Amino acid sequence: MSQLLRFDELSLSQEVQQAVTDMGFETASPIQSEAIPFILEGRDVIGQAQTGTGKTAAFGIPMIESTVPFEKYVQGLILCPTRELAVQVTEEIKKLSKYKKGVFVTTVYGGDSIERQIKSLKSGANIVVGTPGRVIDLIERRALKLENVKMAVLDEADEMLDMGFREDIESILQETNENRQTIFFSATMSKPIMALTTRYQNNPKLVKVVKNEITNANIEQLYFDVKGRAKMEVMTRLIDFYGLKLMLVFCNQKKKVDEVVEELQLRGYAAEGLHGDLRQQQRNNVMSKFRSGVVTILVATDVAARGLDVDNVDAVFNYDIPLDEEYYVHRIGRTGRAGKSGKAFTLVVGAERNRLREIMNYTKVKIDKGVIPTFSDVVGVKKGMFIERIQNAIEGGDLELFGDVLENLHHAGFSTEQIVSALVKMNMGITKNEFADENLDGEIERQQRRNEGGGRFDRNSRDSGRRGEGRFDRNNRDSGRRGEGRFENRRSDERGPRTDKAGKPYRKDPNMVRMFVNIGFNEKISPANIVGAFAGESGIPGNALGQIDIFDKYSFVDVPKEYATTVLDKMEGASIKGKRVNVEVAKPAN
Ligand code: AMP
Repeated sequence: MSQLLRFDELSLSQEVQQAVTDMGFETASPIQSEAIPFILEGRDVIGQAQTGTGKTAAFGIPMIESTVPFEKYVQGLILCPTRELAVQVTEEIKKLSKYKKGVFVTTVYGGDSIERQIKSLKSGANIVVGTPGRVIDLIERRALKLENVKMAVLDEADEMLDMGFREDIESILQETNENRQTIFFSATMSKPIMALTTRYQNNPKLVKVVKNEITNANIEQLYFDVKGRAKMEVMTRLIDFYGLKLMLVFCNQKKKVDEVVEELQLRGYAAEGLHGDLRQQQRNNVMSKFRSGVVTILVATDVAARGLDVDNVDAVFNYDIPLDEEYYVHRIGRTGRAGKSGKAFTLVVGAERNRLREIMNYTKVKIDKGVIPTFSDVVGVKKGMFIERIQNAIEGGDLELFGDVLENLHHAGFSTEQIVSALVKMNMGITKNEFADENLDGEIERQQRRNEGGGRFDRNSRDSGRRGEGRFDRNNRDSGRRGEGRFENRRSDERGPRTDKAGKPYRKDPNMVRMFVNIGFNEKISPANIVGAFAGESGIPGNALGQIDIFDKYSFVDVPKEYATTVLDKMEGASIKGKRVNVEVAKPAN
């Protein structure tokens, strides 16, 4: 991993140092470690970094530090391609300058009241974040004066050029003080960018982070496109659905580690956190609980997890997408060790898909999009496990010790059926919450937003730009079927969830071929194992499968007609849970 600096090694003011601590940042990210010292020195810098690497603080911190407090003219200018990014950058700078009295930041972008923006400029903003079109408008109205700008930042410069802002950018830069410091941040270093830097920068220092590791082939890597506030729900569904036993969950900030631990504990998981604030003794304590399995989920920051060496971690979650590609490699390398297989699940919210693409480019591994298990999927799996536990308890004997409990409850007027159902409910620990299945998927949300009408962005909507939504999905294995697939999944729920023998009776679906598999509860099989094997072997999307019925010695699986031949072909000689299985079309009586 590249040399990371602690923030206290960066010669920052007390105020910024405190803000960074409050934000839960543990160390400077690679791009921050590289860029901040040069920018603080006053050098022009070209930073090659994407959103999600910590680039905002990389230029935001030095800009705050160089702002003369209470001087009510614009000293720092940040240009962003979209309104969305401008707002995000402003929020980050506000947090970073929370303790810096006299530093005022404001945002200006198209599509919102220009009068309000003029007012906020007049009230003495000394850092302005804006989209080029609106900045030009404000200059023309003489509401924005840039002659005293000491530092100008072009954020996502490549994106701005792609969106046709070149002329605007040039006229804006010409308005600023010619002695200014000029910082470019860009994900790519194209020719037009280089031309712009030659023209407007003075002997710039190029900073980017050098990478040199690759990922392990034993690890199944999936990403899940989720709505931000549904992250916890999605993660716990995945934990339950896959029956995961020992997990590492990575967050970018200490604060987040604490939040995630608390939420997991509230949901009944044995989770503990590991971050730099823990004393060695506490850290040892947490680690030994994790090694012995008393704690099953360890939530950590990248720094805290350094040197962590546990062999049987069966999944790594990137609760937050890592700030650097190399972190990704380090994180997921914690599973799939010692010849075992492991899972690496990455939760991706909105534009973080761009970061994911960077990670894929870097690792040269395609990360497939995973399907978020439905509520019924999770219930199905839990039922299967529960039935197994009951069988074991019955076989374990000594049941007569508890016979009077049933008798007492009968006396109280409850039927055996009611008592058993209540026990099942209590034991399975499943409760419905506000997260309906359709409330988890970030893609559905974006689709809805798009349907509600565009025009959110200054000039050119980012949705229709180079980073359009569809781009990544087109590369996806089950692309083109995504939208359909989700609803198919829901239809399949209405038809009856993937279920076990305690589930609904089977109803034939004319679009499905019923398949027989010679493996069942006796081999401790769960619907997740079947979905995993079928989807994994034949490459069909897991959510395309319909009802699954598991019996003691065999199971039935509904496979869409169009995939039937592929599945039969690919499942020949395949194994599920280590057992060679035979898959064939079920006899019509089923
Ligand atoms: P950015 O690349 O600026 O969009 O940042 C991505 C996310 O990482 C934001 O939520 C930041 O608050 C967060 N972040 C920035 N720097 C750090 C850091 N050194 N440690 C942890 N999180 C950070």
